[in-house]
Amino acid sequence: MREIHHFVNGAEMRGTSTRFGDVFNPNTGEVQARVNFASKADAAKVFAAAAAAAPGWADTPAPRRAAVMFKFRELVLKEIDTLAHLLASEHGKVLADAKGDIQRGLDVVEFACAIPHVLKGEFSDMVSGGIDVYSMRQALGVVAGITPFNFPAMVPMWMFAIAIACGNTFVLKPSEKDPSVPMRLAELMLAAGAPPGVLNVLNGDKEAVDAILTDPVIQAVSFVGSTDIARYIYSTGTAHGKRVQAMGGAKNHMIVMPDADLDQVADALIGAGYGSAGERCMAISVAVPVGDKTADALRKRLEPRVQSLKVGISTSNDADFGPLVTKAHLEKVRGYIDLGVKEGADLAIDGRKMSSLQGYENGYFMGGSLFDRVTPDMRIYKEEIFGPVLSIARVNDFDAALKLPSEHEFGNGVSIYTRDGDTAREFTRRVNVGMVGVNVPIPVPVAFHTFGGWKASAFGDTNQHGTEGVKFFTKIKTVTSRWPTGIRAGADFFIPTIK
Ligand code: NAD
Repeated sequence: MREIHHFVNGAEMRGTSTRFGDVFNPNTGEVQARVNFASKADAAKVFAAAAAAAPGWADTPAPRRAAVMFKFRELVLKEIDTLAHLLASEHGKVLADAKGDIQRGLDVVEFACAIPHVLKGEFSDMVSGGIDVYSMRQALGVVAGITPFNFPAMVPMWMFAIAIACGNTFVLKPSEKDPSVPMRLAELMLAAGAPPGVLNVLNGDKEAVDAILTDPVIQAVSFVGSTDIARYIYSTGTAHGKRVQAMGGAKNHMIVMPDADLDQVADALIGAGYGSAGERCMAISVAVPVGDKTADALRKRLEPRVQSLKVGISTSNDADFGPLVTKAHLEKVRGYIDLGVKEGADLAIDGRKMSSLQGYENGYFMGGSLFDRVTPDMRIYKEEIFGPVLSIARVNDFDAALKLPSEHEFGNGVSIYTRDGDTAREFTRRVNVGMVGVNVPIPVPVAFHTFGGWKASAFGDTNQHGTEGVKFFTKIKTVTSRWPTGIRAGADFFIPTIK
């Protein structure tokens, strides 16, 4: 059985712990590898390697650091097909989607290639007699990223590309469910010229995470995952004096106004609701048609589309979506469908009834499900299901539609479909959610803008990537200087004022 350990100081490090996690192939249900769960001692070795590499890397000129990112991009692109296959075989998303996962990460790498420009500080000439002021952004030192299973390429690159380009050294703790792609990315960073110790991978579970959260060498922690864990990461990390950003779960709504093009809306909902088997933090899981007429017409368009979704193995090219990530997750999602029925929602299409795929009877597959007449008091509305399940929550007017996502516990993404600019503008200004789409189903901002939800979808003040990411991974220093030094004005006992 293949074993996955840790990547430290430019080489594989075998873990000392005897604890391992199973890495499944979700298409077959077979265990395809075992990943070592780091001990505290393993974590300490990784942190020491990152700390040893930190001063040299911070002193490496920014254009040289950017050159590593350029080269890394080239190396990843060279093997994107192999990487996508590896990713699809552990995660269960289909190949085209797996490539998209890698490409969206590379978008952030491309942004990081511009780091010499982005890091330019500010300069003020002559703020007072002979005095100039300038500011610069400096690396924090050793920083860490803890990432979820659902984007094993993109989310690690969101974090390490920017952190490393800014001059930090990095400890990545990937999801234990699909650790192979992050391990390969670390090897490629080394091949691209990042010195040993600059990017390290520490595999593991809570023990590894707790070591990151409590060890004084780690200056900042970036986390993406579910809300309960995000809350824990934020409170524990900040209690240990670290800078923390922690992105959590989501329940993304799509408001459908009566004037929207309903065929376009139905297509958008199918892609955004069922793509990647709904295992995306920006998946649309609630459609909010305004008025019963809109709701009935939308349902009529959705039903045949949901029924004809092609569910298949992730490593072939002919499926809309593949299996869920693990058996436990499949059971959880199926449980939510049982619950929805019990709660009184109208189950229009039942994905549990999908017949098993020949040759893949033990895979974690289920079909797409559609609920209608879901109401805000139901748990299937309140909680994140993270599966191929779309709910329709009917409302009577725009104000009620605006209220639903605004008052929901989560505030990651939301979208509105309308042909009316006034309605769209009003909605985008008033809705209490961090990322908004107008006639766009999955409003994931591009790399040079910034990603982050509101409310229980994110803890901490700065977002992922873009200039917010640069802010998170650097600290600002402001220098006030006077030349020549020879001026003698005598002792001054009062706060300096502009002269
Ligand atoms: P998860 O919270 O289970 O795991 C995320 C990371 O935390 C993993 O590395 C895992 O090993 C670690 N972890 C898990 N349990 C822990 C514990 N008890 N103590 C310490 N560490 C622990 O999330 P997941 O299932 O891998 O990913 C899916 C979740 O991530 C969904 O809720 C999804 O919405 C969310 N997500 C959010 C965003 C965003 O930007 N808001 C993006 C992608 C995914």
